[in-house]
Amino acid sequence: MLLAGKTAIISGAAGARGIGFATAKTFAQNGARVAILDIDGKSAVSAAAELGAGHVGVACDVTDKADCARAVADVLKAFGQIDILINNAGITQPVKVWDISSEDWDRIQDVNLRGVLFLSQAVMPHMRSRKSGAIACMSSVSAQRGGGILGGAHYSAAKAGVLGLAKAMARELGPDGIRVNCVTPGLIQTDINAGKISDEKRKEIIDGIPLGRLGVPQDVANIYLFLASDLSAYTTGAVIDVNGGMLIH
Ligand code: NAD
Repeated sequence: MLLAGKTAIISGAAGARGIGFATAKTFAQNGARVAILDIDGKSAVSAAAELGAGHVGVACDVTDKADCARAVADVLKAFGQIDILINNAGITQPVKVWDISSEDWDRIQDVNLRGVLFLSQAVMPHMRSRKSGAIACMSSVSAQRGGGILGGAHYSAAKAGVLGLAKAMARELGPDGIRVNCVTPGLIQTDINAGKISDEKRKEIIDGIPLGRLGVPQDVANIYLFLASDLSAYTTGAVIDVNGGMLIH
C-alpha cells in the first residue's frame, strides 16, 4: 500500500486499454483515491466507477486553462486534498514533417505540452499551500530519439518540450516540497497505436529491443507508482526510461 491515505489526479485515464487507466488501477490497489480526468467525461465517470467506491471521474479538456481549474476544484471538493498529479493525457499523429499543418502543430502541442502546464498550474496553489506534492509527466522515447516510430516531428517536439517544462518546474517547485519527474516510454501497446503497425514493422521494432517485447500499460503504471510514492522522495527533475532498452544512453 504505497499510496495509503493519498489522493491522485490522473489525466487521460478513461480508456480501458490505456496507460492512464492501468495507472489508476495500480494507484487504487495501493490505497489511493483516484480522480480520472479525461476529455471524454462519460468514460471518465464509468472508468472511475470500475475502480470501486471512493474514486471520481471528471470531464476535463487539458488544453483549456479554465477547464483545468474547474476540474481540479471539483476534485478538491470531492477529496479535500490532492497529493499526486499524473499528467498523462496525450495524442499523436503519424505524419511526415513536410506535411505538418499549422492546425496539426497546434493540436499536438496543445494536448501534449500546454495541457501539462495548465493542469500543473491548476494544482500548484493547493500543493504549495501544503508544501507537498508529486507530479509526474508523460514524455516519450520519441523526444529522445527523434520519433521515427509512429508520431510525427510535432509529437517529438511536444514530448521534448515536456522534458524541459518538467525539469524547470522541478527546479522552481522543489523549495515548496513539490517533486516533478518524467517518464519516457518506448512503444507501449494501447489504443494510440492499435492497428497502426504492420506485423513486419512490429518484428523490426522488437528486434531492436534488448528485452525482446513491446511494452504494456502496466510497465509504465509501475514507474508512475514509484514516482508518485515516497519511495522516490529524493528524486525530482528525473527522467525514467520505460523502453525495454530500445534506447540506452
Ligand atoms: P490513449 O489514447 O489510451 O490515452 C490518451 C488519453 O488522453 C485518452 O483517454 C484520451 O481521451 C485523453 N485525451 C486526449 N485529449 C485530451 C484532452 N484534450 N484533455 C484530456 N484528455 C485527453 O493512449 P496511451 O498510449 O495510453 O497514451 C497515454 C500517454 O502516453 C499519451 O500522452 C501518449 O502520448 C503517451 N505515450 C504513449 C506511448 C505508447 O506507445 N502508447 C509511448 C510513449 C508515450
